[in-house]
Amino acid sequence: MAIDFVIAAALYVVTYLSFVRLLKYPRNWHSPSLAMSLTTAGLAAVTVTYVSVSTDGYDPVALPLSAGIIAVLFSIIAAPAIAFRPASQWIEFMARHGHYAGPCILAFAIAATFALHNIKLQGVLAAAMAIELAWFFWRRPNYQRRLHPIVGHDLSVLKAQAKGDLEGFARQHGIHELVLSEGTVNWRGCSKETPPCPYNFYVNHLGLNTAPCCREHMANLCHYVAACLRDMGAAHWLEGGTLLGAVRENGRLLAWEDDVDISVALEEKITFDSIAAGLAACAARDGYYVDVFKKKRHIAISYDRPGRWPLSWERNRMRGDIRLDIAVYEHAVSYGKLVLERKFCKGAMPLTEHGGYGVAREMVLPTSTITFLGRDIACPNKPTAYLHSLYGDFAEVAYTYVDMAAAKNRCEADSAAKHAHTQSKSSARGTAD
Ligand SMILES: [Zn+2]
Repeated sequence: MAIDFVIAAALYVVTYLSFVRLLKYPRNWHSPSLAMSLTTAGLAAVTVTYVSVSTDGYDPVALPLSAGIIAVLFSIIAAPAIAFRPASQWIEFMARHGHYAGPCILAFAIAATFALHNIKLQGVLAAAMAIELAWFFWRRPNYQRRLHPIVGHDLSVLKAQAKGDLEGFARQHGIHELVLSEGTVNWRGCSKETPPCPYNFYVNHLGLNTAPCCREHMANLCHYVAACLRDMGAAHWLEGGTLLGAVRENGRLLAWEDDVDISVALEEKITFDSIAAGLAACAARDGYYVDVFKKKRHIAISYDRPGRWPLSWERNRMRGDIRLDIAVYEHAVSYGKLVLERKFCKGAMPLTEHGGYGVAREMVLPTSTITFLGRDIACPNKPTAYLHSLYGDFAEVAYTYVDMAAAKNRCEADSAAKHAHTQSKSSARGTAD
């Protein structure tokens, strides 16, 4: 009897880990491989079969019950990863409230344990309960977090989205990080000891600025990775929205930034594998998490601690991920011109004759430097021409990845800030004159 309980619990744990491992792909805009998906489905089928079939025959209640519990629970677990892209209201709801699944399942499991005498089902429920409760307590707001004041543009955007009612807005959307007291607005900041702020929801869906704590960690991560690449002798440069912030926003991150992008040019001695191995060694030493997507030709480095395998896969359940993406470019010749070519499209980068996407090599190399987040960092040789090839007229603000309704709402706050900035600039010029 006891061995049945242990085997069923172990089967659930293995199925769960296999499932959360799949979730890193939706978060990175890819689909998991068929082999990985089939393995997870196979493990789920084995678990359900083990629970519902015994020497006495098959249990007609345990079969739908175990299959139903796994299906519902896994939908809740997957919701935050799926909601990384714009998702339906129902998925959004599960992503926001999924951490309560543990206590809900606990209540259901207690009832089921009393009603049924299936020791294997109890094993599955016990394992699911233990995992969900651990998840629930781990991601609860930590009141020891350092407070960051919300001021200036961050505050005006917050007020615009909340239509002036900050307290009601925080309550409606479950923004536990917001601390309002005596007229001051503060943010309970995330750190390496806590889960990151769920800013996929706050930034992309509610249209707020990236939280000051997350911005601080993105800045550290950006300069840390650039230093690692410099030590490896890899030619690298700020990419995409990060370069856009450096150029257009005077060395700052875009206000709604949700990741940092750096690109690397592969050379004879600087291969994809050597970069991945070098970064993995740096990250293991200094406490960052590295994910390598060899087929997709990118490497993701996250701010949170590496965690122990296989539990590190559980991090795919988080709603925010302070992450830096490294894309690789290879030297190539396209239509008679020297280019740097990448496998997957970025912005409006033109197609090369090999079916990749490329920019003129002289636009990028030799790299130049630009001041970004208070320090010098490598950028393309011709940063404005590079941005132009990605975004066309990049001076025009485009709210990429921000929900349309939220973007529309924040436009007012942004144009007011721009107006104030122009006015203060012209009055400063007047004073100087
Ligand atoms: Zn944060």
